[in-house]
Amino acid sequence: MSVLFLNLEAPVFADVPHPKHNLAPLDLGTAMASVSERGHTVDFIETSTGEINLETLTGRLRSDPAELVVIRPSFEALPHAPTLATAACANERTILWVGPPASHAADWLLSRCPSSLVSTGESDRVPLAVLQALHGKRPRKDILGIAFRDGEQIVRTPPRPLEQNIDRLPIPRHDLLLQPNYRFHYPLKPKGPLKMGYLLASRGCPYSCIFCSEVERASFGKPYRHHGPGRIASEMRLLSELGATGVYFEDDLFALDKPRFLALADAIRCSRGDLSWCAQVRASDIDAEIAQALKGAGCTSVACGIETGSDRLLKLLKKGTTTAANESGVRALNDAGIQVVAYLIIGIPEETPDDRRATLRLAEELKASMVQLHIFASYPGTRAMDDYPELGAQGGNKFIPAPTRSDRDDLLQLQRDFYRRFYLRPDRFVQHVWRRWPQLWANPGGEIRNAMHLVRHALNLGS
Ligand code: SF4
Repeated sequence: MSVLFLNLEAPVFADVPHPKHNLAPLDLGTAMASVSERGHTVDFIETSTGEINLETLTGRLRSDPAELVVIRPSFEALPHAPTLATAACANERTILWVGPPASHAADWLLSRCPSSLVSTGESDRVPLAVLQALHGKRPRKDILGIAFRDGEQIVRTPPRPLEQNIDRLPIPRHDLLLQPNYRFHYPLKPKGPLKMGYLLASRGCPYSCIFCSEVERASFGKPYRHHGPGRIASEMRLLSELGATGVYFEDDLFALDKPRFLALADAIRCSRGDLSWCAQVRASDIDAEIAQALKGAGCTSVACGIETGSDRLLKLLKKGTTTAANESGVRALNDAGIQVVAYLIIGIPEETPDDRRATLRLAEELKASMVQLHIFASYPGTRAMDDYPELGAQGGNKFIPAPTRSDRDDLLQLQRDFYRRFYLRPDRFVQHVWRRWPQLWANPGGEIRNAMHLVRHALNLGS
């Protein structure tokens, strides 16, 4: 049988005003591997890079011979998803929605696409289970971890047991995930033209920050599970053989659990070849030894959720850390020569002018190579959505404030002013170009496009 996998992102419907890089959908990569291991034919369409327009995609979905179409919509693309499902439904084929946003919006999707199926948990093996049921003419109710419509009723089958030993999952189809021209903007030093590969060394996060939602995380939900160092070493070698020059670890907590991290860093050091890589960490997990191990393993940069310069707001966000611990982690990274990408948030509920000033001051003082200034948004499935539904209920995301916010224009202006100050200050601009030289050399078109996008956003010139 043949299966078409579609990563459905907002750029296929409209230009995205805030510059954003792309992350490969590694959960689709694992699902594609599990399906192709059983001899089925697999094809993959990526829409996040903006290289395919809606008309072409609709035509492709109508004419594709696949018997099963697996669609992974992002949170931002979700409202448009049913439009495409109509095209994908041609030829009486089966549509399966996967990924955290689809799982959260299962009832909504089934009310608009009544004949489709929705995966309600981790979906690595769900497409294969659907194929096996279709092939064996077994009823949908026998497939674990899905929801479907039966008349007016929505039926949810029992959850699929979580894979505790994630090394048992197949290696994602990196060959397919390396085909799209993924844009990536965190600092790297690739040897040769930039070709991004993506990895997950762990899944999940044990913390409970009130704003953080599975629907926008690439690293799955709550339970923390990790791959062994040998598995990650094999994937690094594979990516190198397939022609990747840069790697991004999509984990949320790359350095959680120091002994495990040190073993992993050692495995990466021995296997990475020429790959330049970066990852996401919690700044408060970083000490001098971890920072040096990152450097020794070839890590160029890390991204950290600093969130705010106010300890009171860190408590409100239930971040479980302090500004002092965050600053100490960033200092250790700077000392080791690892470039830092800092994520900060403005517009947090109960944020006073002093808190906001502290956040913007911290953003300037951290000596970060890049700062992403997010605007607080409530996502489905978060404590924030329960407590502050007006801050996201109508489509707000971390870059664009919810239309219902009375301070929407102020926040956008503040964000633009900050970017202008941060990136265009002459000394920082020169430093920025100097630090980014390897990436500029490796990916001149992408770097210039991104810089123009950021400047247009900062100057409010539209897309
Ligand atoms: S923000 Fe980071 S630490 Fe907090 S829950 Fe999300 S992934 Fe975990």
